[in-house]
Amino acid sequence: MLASGHQAMGITWGVASITAISSTLPFSLQSEKEYIGYFFAIMIGSLLPDMDSMKSKMGRYMYSIASILVIGLIGFFLVDSERFWSWINAEAIFLLALIIPVFFVFSSHRTWTHSLLFVAMLGIYFQLLSIWFTIPLYLQMGCGIGVLSHIFGDFITKRGVPLFYPLHRKYYRFLFTFHTGSQAERGIVFSLVLANIWLLFTQV
Ligand SMILES: [Zn+2]
Repeated sequence: MLASGHQAMGITWGVASITAISSTLPFSLQSEKEYIGYFFAIMIGSLLPDMDSMKSKMGRYMYSIASILVIGLIGFFLVDSERFWSWINAEAIFLLALIIPVFFVFSSHRTWTHSLLFVAMLGIYFQLLSIWFTIPLYLQMGCGIGVLSHIFGDFITKRGVPLFYPLHRKYYRFLFTFHTGSQAERGIVFSLVLANIWLLFTQV
């Protein structure tokens, strides 16, 4: 699936999570800020698995952004460390936490970042960070939902995903699939956008 498809899929999962299954979620969104943060985290999560290759536009783009951010932050810290620490709140820590995986997810495209192992490792990573920092649960969950929606989005393409990588290197795919970037994908993305509008108007 192309990046636009993954974003539409991520938003759909996000909208479905706060409408259809909101009562089963371990958190509830309280303010406008939290809604925006939740969907922002979903957007990042929905693109994260494709940052696995420097060959991809997304990989190169994210690598450049992450490098500039890291250099900028180190500079900020060196120039005015007092202001730097006052600026670091829970949301900023979440964003900083997401910079690190960008440097480590590089692998051959569509391998371990498209497996359940990646979802589990992301969960463990957030748990570890939570020992020292406070990262709001809705941001962690948003990111996880985004990643899952991405894996599902590629699961319904012809190439499929190595769900159980590295235990099984087999690529699994859904019964009905389409080619990445095809007319069928565009049709699906369009239907997802319509489904979101319908869900938002009828259930929120
Ligand atoms: Zn992908």
